[in-house]
Amino acid sequence: MSAPKIQSVRGMNDILPDEAEFWDMFEETVRSWLASYGYRPIRLPVVEPTPLFRRAIGEVTDIVEKEMYSFVDSLNGESLTLRPEGTAGCVRAVIQHSLAAHQAQRLYYIGQMFRHERPQKGRYRQFHQVGVEAFGFPGPDVDGEQILMGARLWGDLGLAGITLEINTLGEPGERARHRAELVSYLEEHAELLDEDARRRLYTNPLRVLDSKNPALQDLIAGAPRLIDHLGEQSMAHFEGVQQVLRDAGQPFSVNPRLVRGLDYYNLTVYEWQTDRLGAQGTVCAGGRYDGLVEQLGGRPTPACGFAMGVERLIALIREAGGETRAEAVDVYLVHQGALASRLAVGVAETLRDRGIDVLYNCGGGSFKSQMKRADVSGAAFAVIIGDDEAAAGEVTLKPLRAADDRVGQQRITADDVADRIISLTADWEDA
Ligand code: ATP
Ligand code: MG
Repeated sequence: MSAPKIQSVRGMNDILPDEAEFWDMFEETVRSWLASYGYRPIRLPVVEPTPLFRRAIGEVTDIVEKEMYSFVDSLNGESLTLRPEGTAGCVRAVIQHSLAAHQAQRLYYIGQMFRHERPQKGRYRQFHQVGVEAFGFPGPDVDGEQILMGARLWGDLGLAGITLEINTLGEPGERARHRAELVSYLEEHAELLDEDARRRLYTNPLRVLDSKNPALQDLIAGAPRLIDHLGEQSMAHFEGVQQVLRDAGQPFSVNPRLVRGLDYYNLTVYEWQTDRLGAQGTVCAGGRYDGLVEQLGGRPTPACGFAMGVERLIALIREAGGETRAEAVDVYLVHQGALASRLAVGVAETLRDRGIDVLYNCGGGSFKSQMKRADVSGAAFAVIIGDDEAAAGEVTLKPLRAADDRVGQQRITADDVADRIISLTADWEDA
């Protein structure tokens, strides 16, 4: 009887090598895109104190109400949570290390997030975000730049058809006036509300507008609009963002019902959406959160940012026909015999010193079976060392790819093999 198998946790996926190579490519593109806008990496813990998220995200949100993986640290009784998003931890770190005290900061991170949701296509319990945050810029210019960053990345990734919706949430005072009106409107139609909406009516009525329940959509469409309660400054900020987008020729639509699922936003909010992923169509979402740094105990600091869902973007790239470019090694090192194998270790290291990638045959095997493995590996060359070669301090160099057949197998000294591989490769690249 074999031992029972242990499976991965539901909604938390392994990313196998073919897929992981694709992720690496994606991350490379993302990192150079971020560098081109002057954003710098920050690496943050996956676990944070639970109160951080309760305070940052808001008590009456899907995340805090039902999606957090929280547990008690048995050593000291502290409540900890696997991060459900990255902004709260980033703000905590910015405050803790006074990063934004004397200068503005443009920061980004890439990593796992955890939410206890019902797993489905594009929605997982462990998923990944690229998070981008800017601290210390009050004006609409940076909101506009961050939105345009998204557009450039879609281009860099070869993605078309991702559309932009923007909105403004105004400032807290304006929201309070709108909220009062919204609550009376919803009270008038209380019989139409679902359970979630009824609960949120007094705790977080704006979130009722964010409901995905089809039965509520007519009610939502007729609700008082926040935008009608905004003052001059808020409107000017919103207009400023739109100006940046228009100047750049970036199409967008204003969606007055776009409110976002987290409490910390003010003024600008936006989402990038695709219709090619079914129900999980939002690939990127963000906005301004000027109050959050102060709310978490820092000095008032304007801030804005966005987060992208990596799984959804990768699914979209796949859907658009994106291929994995599997990176084969340069050399497969075939060796047989005690002396040959010892020499081969040194040859492999020498090749790597010169920037040549080497797969060293492990596990023995006949020349024939090792040569088969060399073919399967996709390597451009086999370097072959038998007792004969070893005794002479030589190796046999054999090009493996069909197109390389014009150069036959050759025996050269072990000292020369790196130079020969480099010059042959350069010749082929020139040809
Ligand atoms: P949704 O409305 O789809 O639940 P959200 O508003 O909760 O999204 P955000 O907190 O804004 O999402 O996160 C930013 C992005 O992260 C989303 O636009 C999405 O691409 C991705 N994302 C969020 N939750 C998940 C999840 N459970 N699985 C995969 N990707 C996710
Ligand atoms: Mg969600």
